[in-house]
Amino acid sequence: MLDRENDLNAWDRDHFFHPSTHMGMHARGESPRRVIGSGEGVYITDTAGKRSLDAFAGLYCVNVGYGRTEIAEAISQQAHELAYYHAYVGHGTEASITLAHMIMERAPAHMSRVYFGLSGSDANETNIKLIWYYNNILGRPEKKKIISRWRGYHGSGVMTGSLTGLELFHNAFDLPRAPILHTEAPYYFRREDRSMSEEQFSAHCVAKLEELILAEGPDTVAAFIGEPILGTGGIVPPPKGYWAAIQAVLEKYDVLLVADEVVTGFGRLGSMFGSQHYGMKPDLITIAKGLTSAYAPLSGSIVSDRMWEVLVRGSDQLGPIGHGWTYSAHPICAAAGVANLRLIDELNLVENAGRVGAYFRKGLEDALGSHANVGEVRGDGLMAAVEFVEDRDDRKFFDPSRKIGPAIAAALLDRGVIGRAMPQGDILGFAPPFCLTEAEADTIVTAAASAIEAVLGRG
Ligand code: PLP
Repeated sequence: MLDRENDLNAWDRDHFFHPSTHMGMHARGESPRRVIGSGEGVYITDTAGKRSLDAFAGLYCVNVGYGRTEIAEAISQQAHELAYYHAYVGHGTEASITLAHMIMERAPAHMSRVYFGLSGSDANETNIKLIWYYNNILGRPEKKKIISRWRGYHGSGVMTGSLTGLELFHNAFDLPRAPILHTEAPYYFRREDRSMSEEQFSAHCVAKLEELILAEGPDTVAAFIGEPILGTGGIVPPPKGYWAAIQAVLEKYDVLLVADEVVTGFGRLGSMFGSQHYGMKPDLITIAKGLTSAYAPLSGSIVSDRMWEVLVRGSDQLGPIGHGWTYSAHPICAAAGVANLRLIDELNLVENAGRVGAYFRKGLEDALGSHANVGEVRGDGLMAAVEFVEDRDDRKFFDPSRKIGPAIAAALLDRGVIGRAMPQGDILGFAPPFCLTEAEADTIVTAAASAIEAVLGRG
């Protein structure tokens, strides 16, 4: 056993190029590594036997929790019956067709079809291509720019990494690329003018967007993409009135709306989709993580009726759409998706996410809200964040070199709970599985309070 552990350690340091990891520190053995062996409910256990309550559901994706035999069996059965067939030229499988139907049953009524991919990044890549194709078919070849927000997260490919509005994902990669533009993040806590009310701040963000559209020329702006609630950029719910006012501007200039629901799709906010939750009427919806609860990789681009009608015209003019992945609608992943969505219904997990999410966020607020270094406790549904500041009254942020957020996340892990130190700020994020109980929520809150005290004192 020891040999095996030693082998894994050496192989990991020497051969494994990890995503989102400090390459040198990992290779040199200067940063912690962890080998996860199993999971059950909201807990994971590593190969050293240490159990942790995963209050971030992996990367906010294991929404039904770990160890669901219903999904494992559906995957196994599909692999035995038919491990693979492609979806090109009208082919499908019972699993992929059934899943498409189940997605459309749950999506907002004005949506029409779902195109399957494998990751949130490739689904957003598909969206960009569909937006460009759409405007070409409409005879508007100039209308191609896509506006995203600073602090948005939409993937880490060339174009989707460009959509992402976080420095780490741009630095030294020559991103962002044209024709991607960014506008202000709807981040009320970090607003420059602190005298603004939430409504005034929403109006300010919308004015900034309109300014950008006008400066670029409305005839060149094709789409606007946003997560219903900012995720990786800090877990920031939209300020009051934001989406309604943004949509009015988009309609005025005939700009499409893409709702990136990779995190919020299938229940995380206590509603099936974030679009329904915040009254958005998107032309495209990106889905991924919660579609299979990450039991297998699967994503999708859900296309609205009005876009679909134009895309079909394109095919009538140009022939089959020249866009496809070998693994689009992979039957094993689709079988996982069908079992996952059934489980969410059977266990009433969307309702649970809303109810326990509210309980959890109140627990965080009660336990931490008055700490001298807690600037804000915020969230919606089963997404929550605690943002730390050096001085509450002046809203003075810590020097990033002090790495307060990572230190608190590490202290939390020592106490048996996984939270996530979000990039660009000292922000501790939570997005637990939907099956979280109130008792488990209490465990997270108690551990968070203790971790914060260990790093920042009693406050
Ligand atoms: N969009 C959002 C909102 C995300 O949070 C993520 C990943 O966290 C992505 C897209 C990219 O998904 P993936 O990592 O599967 O490519």
